Formats: sequence, structure tokens, C-alpha cells
Amino acid sequence: MPAEVTPAKSGYIEINCQSCGSSLIVESKMLTAICPYCASSSIIQRPPAKDLPRPSFAIGFVIDHDRATELVRQWLRKSHIFARSDFRRAGPELTRGVYLPGYLYSAVSDSNFSASIGENYTETQTYTTTDSKGRTVTRTRTVTRTEWRPLSGRHSCYVMDVVVTASRGVGNAELQAIEPFDLRALRRFQPALITGWLAERPSRTREDCLRMARSETRGKVGVMLKNFMPGDSHRGLRFETKVSREVIHLVLFPIWSFAVRYDPHKAPLQILVNGQTGRVGGKVPVSSMKVSLAIAGVVLLIGLLVLLFLLAD
Ligand SMILES: [Zn+2]
Repeated sequence: MPAEVTPAKSGYIEINCQSCGSSLIVESKMLTAICPYCASSSIIQRPPAKDLPRPSFAIGFVIDHDRATELVRQWLRKSHIFARSDFRRAGPELTRGVYLPGYLYSAVSDSNFSASIGENYTETQTYTTTDSKGRTVTRTRTVTRTEWRPLSGRHSCYVMDVVVTASRGVGNAELQAIEPFDLRALRRFQPALITGWLAERPSRTREDCLRMARSETRGKVGVMLKNFMPGDSHRGLRFETKVSREVIHLVLFPIWSFAVRYDPHKAPLQILVNGQTGRVGGKVPVSSMKVSLAIAGVVLLIGLLVLLFLLAD
């Protein structure tokens, strides 16, 4: 039996969300009329494509539906103090467990870098001043100075475990908010693994995902180079990175997707839960009223302090 997400003869259909562009594989009996990512009802059906990229690996769900709902409730209650009150009180509305397609990427990176490296040293300085009796005296003090010297070189390393989304329904930033996944739990993909779940087929091109993975890799290299710099400080770090020996695998990641509607006039917000670790991520709508009140409070406090200062003078 081929390990495609949509075995040709079984009861699978493909649905497309016209609103967010996600493309999901569902068993006919699980047919949904609402997009699990954006809660839009602009779903169209189409026959499953035959040339689906075949996932190499998948991570199974550890967090069940009830636990995920509870985690979202807690997260909503604890959302930061500037969150709109109606959002903090809102309940998760639509919940779906989805196998989200993503790419797992690793590569060897070779970078040429240049920077200025700062080395601190102390110096004893002699200076003249006037003492309490009005006499001119000579004193010494220790000052710290930094000597800058140029450094350039090559840095090679192996970058691994870069994860990027292959779904249009979930952006890379949204996926990053619920990472990391414990990749030790990766299993070879078996169609049986996704039975009873929604699974999405990649709705972003492999080239798009490669671009995202390379840019994330450059970010990681930048952090590594910063840590690699000798001396007490550095400035003007520049680097150029070439990647080689790229390895990329399509992986299905377990995600709970929640739609939270806090305002009947606004589109529901997407909150995601990592189906393996339970980490919750999503954008919190900020209450402009609370922010204004906080700013007013700070201004008032500064005013009071200035007043006290003037009075004490
Ligand atoms: Zn959608």
C-alpha cells in the first residue's frame, strides 16, 4: 500500500479554504463545512490530487481534545493585562485536531564574517582638581578603555532541526510560537497514523518553504556567530552564508486549532496548541482603552513625582 495521504480508493476527499488557502484531506465521514484554521465557511470540495508529496515522518498527538481546550482556557485567562476583557472571557469555539504539513530542514553552513572585536583594558589617569580648601591637587583614577581590532574569518557549522510551515492556513510565525516539537518522537509516516484526523496537504510550494528554511538558518548562524566572537565586546558583525548538503523532509505535525470569537463583528482569532507539548500560541487583541488608561496613569505618576520634587526643593 502506497503511503500517500490520500489513498486513491478510500473515502478521502480534499477540501480547499477559499479564505486562507489551506488544503485539507479529510475522510468523507469527517467532512467539515468550516475551515479549521480560520473558521471561514468558504470551503470547496475537489477530487484529491494524485501527485501529492509524500510525508516522510509524522509526530503523533499526545495532547487530547479536552486537555487542549483546558490549556486554551487557561491561556485566555492569563493573557496579558492589556488584552481586551471580552477576549479574556471568550471561550474556544471551534476546535479541530489537524496534522499540519511542515518541512524539517538541515544543512551545513559556511560563513565568511568580519567584525570589530573590543578588548577592555584599564588605565591609571592623573588629573588635577580643587580640594575642599580651594587648593589645586593632583589625583589618580582608574578608567576602563576598549581597544578595537578588526577580525575576519570563516565559520562552518551544521544547522539542524529547522522547522517551517508548508500550510497557507498557518504562517511561520504562528508555527514558531508553539515550537519546539520534540523531534525524538518522529516516526515514519504511516497512513494509519492520521485516520480520524484532518490532515493538510502542503499548500505552499517546496521552493517557498526552502526559502523560509534558509532564512531561518541564516538567523541561527547569526546567533551562533555572535556567541563565537572573542573579546569583551564586538560591533559591526557582517557575514555571508552559503548552505550546502541540504536535507529536507516533509513532516506532519500535530496541531490543535482553535477559533476564538470575542467580537461578533470581527473574524475569529486563531489560537494554536502544540498537540505534542501543549504549548499555546496566538495573537492577543489589545484593548486600546486599557493602553490609554495605563499611559494616562504613567503621565499622572510622573506629574506627581515632579510636583513632589518641586515642593521638596
Ligand atoms: Zn481557512
